[in-house]
Amino acid sequence: MSLIRPILMYGCEISNMFKINKSVQQTENKFLDNIIGWEQEKLQLMFCKSILGLNSRTTNIAVLGELGIYPIFIKAATQMMKFYIRCKEKSDSLIYEAFEDASSREDSEWLKCVKFLFKYVNWDENQDMISPQSFECILQEKYRDHWKQKLNNDERRHNGGNKMRTYRKFKLIYEMERYITVITDFKNRQALTRLRVSNHNLGIEKGRHSGIPVEQRLCNRCDILDDELHFLTTCEVNHEIRSLFFEKVHLQVPQTKTLGNEDLMIYLLTNENEELIKELGKYVYASFKMRDS
Ligand SMILES: [Zn+2]
Repeated sequence: MSLIRPILMYGCEISNMFKINKSVQQTENKFLDNIIGWEQEKLQLMFCKSILGLNSRTTNIAVLGELGIYPIFIKAATQMMKFYIRCKEKSDSLIYEAFEDASSREDSEWLKCVKFLFKYVNWDENQDMISPQSFECILQEKYRDHWKQKLNNDERRHNGGNKMRTYRKFKLIYEMERYITVITDFKNRQALTRLRVSNHNLGIEKGRHSGIPVEQRLCNRCDILDDELHFLTTCEVNHEIRSLFFEKVHLQVPQTKTLGNEDLMIYLLTNENEELIKELGKYVYASFKMRDS
């Protein structure tokens, strides 16, 4: 991210990159929904999908969630606040004169943008100046709340509702997942990411694209619902490699022998044991390969 962020944020202190206008000031959630459509955010998401090896259709909240990355808007808005504070403090500088000039004009887009941001974090000008760190933390917290809400939103009933229904069972904390750095083999890591964020060809996802009701998205071999849980824990297609993988899991963590299938899936997708994470990546990659052959 350090490669592309400076380019995406170039001049953000003064360029009013946030396009804050009436259409995005309706409600907080509407505002956060809209920023994902801005060019800088689209580019950041494109970059994230590319490094994770995902296609463009992958759900944005899952992509950001896997990497624990926040929208560019948050860093850029913080830079803007820092610049505002600097201008206010340096009363003997040329930049202060420009700032005064902008402040005296009611139509200054830049100042409107700054004022919106203050209002957005519930800070008013009579209080002590908010620190840029606190400002950034508040924006991050707001984004995390928004992200959780999107993850658990089941309003879209058509096509089987929220496609993140498996993801939300195990993705509870907004931070970069450990497997991203632990699995160094790209294809194994990509396979695991694809399974986690539902960017795969299992029946549950293929059926969604063709409008098949959820209960009819069955595994060709086993004739039961072909979702991530089935693929990971019971499907006949990858039965042999699963037995070998589960042997290793049980050997390392004997308590897993008593877990039910769903609890075992959640354990596998959340555990922090480096050996198990690497084995999981290999198992998922090999299983997808068997499905494709
Ligand atoms: Zn199956």
